[in-house]
Amino acid sequence: MPAATSLLESYAAGRWHHASDEGTPLRDAATGEEVARISSAGLDLGAMVAHARTVGGPALRDLTFHERAGLLKQLAKHLMAGKDELYDLSLRTGATRRDSAVDIDGGFGTVFSYASKGTRELPNDTVLLDGPLEPLGKGGTFVGQHLYTSRPGVAVQINAFNFPVWGMLEKLAPALLAGLPTIVKPASQTAYLTELVVRRIVESRILPEGTLQLLCGSAGGLLDELTVQDSVAFTGSAHTAGLLRTHTNVLHGGVRLGVEADSLNCSILGPDVSADDPELDLFVKGVVAEMTVKAGQKCTAIRRTIVPAAMADVVIEAIAARLAKVAVGNPAHDDVRMGALASLEQRDEVRKAVQALRASADLVYGDPDRVDLVDADAERGAFLSPMLLRARPGAVEPHDVEPFGPVSTVLTYESLDEAVELAARGKGSLVGSLVTHDPGVARTVVLGLAPWHGRILVLDRDDASESTGHGSPLPVLVHGGPGRAGGGEELGGVRGVLHHMQRTAVQGSPDMLTAVTGRWTKGSARAEDTVHPFRKSLAELRIGDSVVSPPREVTRADIDSFAELTGDTFYAHTDETAAAANPLFGGIVAHGYLVVSLAAGLFVDPDPGPVLANFGVDGLRFLTPVKAGDSIAVTLTVKEITPRTSADYGEVRWDAVVTNAEGAPVATYDVLTLVAKEWSA
Ligand code: NDP
Repeated sequence: MPAATSLLESYAAGRWHHASDEGTPLRDAATGEEVARISSAGLDLGAMVAHARTVGGPALRDLTFHERAGLLKQLAKHLMAGKDELYDLSLRTGATRRDSAVDIDGGFGTVFSYASKGTRELPNDTVLLDGPLEPLGKGGTFVGQHLYTSRPGVAVQINAFNFPVWGMLEKLAPALLAGLPTIVKPASQTAYLTELVVRRIVESRILPEGTLQLLCGSAGGLLDELTVQDSVAFTGSAHTAGLLRTHTNVLHGGVRLGVEADSLNCSILGPDVSADDPELDLFVKGVVAEMTVKAGQKCTAIRRTIVPAAMADVVIEAIAARLAKVAVGNPAHDDVRMGALASLEQRDEVRKAVQALRASADLVYGDPDRVDLVDADAERGAFLSPMLLRARPGAVEPHDVEPFGPVSTVLTYESLDEAVELAARGKGSLVGSLVTHDPGVARTVVLGLAPWHGRILVLDRDDASESTGHGSPLPVLVHGGPGRAGGGEELGGVRGVLHHMQRTAVQGSPDMLTAVTGRWTKGSARAEDTVHPFRKSLAELRIGDSVVSPPREVTRADIDSFAELTGDTFYAHTDETAAAANPLFGGIVAHGYLVVSLAAGLFVDPDPGPVLANFGVDGLRFLTPVKAGDSIAVTLTVKEITPRTSADYGEVRWDAVVTNAEGAPVATYDVLTLVAKEWSA
């Protein structure tokens, strides 16, 4: 009889729930010993969903993107400080320390990355504008703006067994930034590790209550509780994905479902690579790493190794030689490079898959029933030899059967078209890689592969030392793939956040859009007062505060001296005859940069004040040429105010319009400045 403490708990509606039955045992992948028990018996799923919607959601939506990003940063730091116990527990999933780094540090890195993206790329607000203002009427009184808002729902994540930490955090970080509370349902097999992480998060009280809940055990009935503002992000088998896809709340109830499922990823060796090229070694290393890291239990692992027919023997020999050096066994042992599969059942599944592959492929390395082990018991632990197969001509199974373990199949091609066609037979994958040093091969293959893949790595001697490898999803790049890979998309920087948000086109007058978005909209009211806006601190500045300069004549002497000072003696500014022949100008014109520099002189308030620095301009366009004798004036308006949470200043974005004497716009741009939060003269 197991100790009661070994029963995993769910964190539901603000408290830890202890299941009402004894639960099912979860076993150490390497020793077969019981690690914990799991059950969701007695859990009130409806109450969990309601708690997320009524407690967690409102608390998160009250925070700006920057405040949510701040929580993520705190969270990552907190987890990082206590990671040793996670590494220890992770051994029980069969993972070596190297495997665990991908899961544990990879998960923390993802949270850090989203914290930084949230601060740098999202506004310090709860609404995010999408794209430019769309003028909808000739008079400028009717405009449109797309914007993103948070959904008042819940993000449910249903995860696979292979990444109990990263799998949770890579989905949590973007959802939290989007203002959505999360319910995590880890795969039972490795849920003890997820539970420990959630326990540490809950204890830290960093996240507002209700923003993170944990469901340990069966998720049966959870989708019944979801409605139109909710979403499910699933990672796992195509079979379970199929069940979820046909749930009535997904089919008819508007619940959004993102799927990341089976994927028969490939790596292609370019036809340019010979046995003497460094690319051959890179290719072989990549295949072996993907076969053995996490014992090949990675959704991104290379299942299909596609090589020129003439290179097949060389490649197989090199892969086999490398695999022979991979010590398999007790994941805690220093010499071991490959640990156990997640469970004995999972080992059986892989053996069955290899059997199926052998219908059209020959085993050229490894034995499904035998493996030499370091410090481990072959009966009790889910150990398996790495296995390499070589497909026979016309093989079908390698494109259909996913052995979720240390297995890859070599397929051969005669032409680049055939290589692309073989890759496409996977019917959609998370990732593909191409190892080539030939730019022409790279373009042909990448463009051929792209419609079938979510991510493509092109590897050669130039990027190898910095390459993150075929199998590593990165927080800043899209993770997901079309077709068989599930059709979903996660991560990808801010893209991953937007998946959780609602995009809406808002139409109205410029004043209304300024009020709605909190950002000054071209055409809406400006406030000119006697105090120059450069004399106002961040606390005093208001959206719409403006300064309109007096006009200034631009003389030929100005143009000549600017040309001399800068060395920009382009003919349109210096050569009367040549400039006259220019079809756009018909004579000498002022440098665009002269116009912008003069404008700065017109709008600036020169004395020391709260404006600390100018850190750039955005969207600079020169619209009308300025000739000697023309006069220009500038209007500067506060467009957006973004206080920085961890500094005593913030960013102010100013709308700048330079006009000529006729009122025609000469140049438009945004000026970006840093302004002190408080200032006393
Ligand atoms: P499953 O699809 O069985 O499980 C994935 C997740 O879904 C688990 O959390 C599981 O919970 C949950 N689940 C299972 N049934 C339901 C249901 N009816 N409703 C809601 N949730 C459900 O995949 P496994 O993790 O068992 O892996 C099986 C195979 O899937 C692997 O051998 C591999 O081929 C493939 N796989 C592919 C991955 C990829 O990304 N390409 C990743 C992982 C697996 P519980 O564990 O409690 O059953």
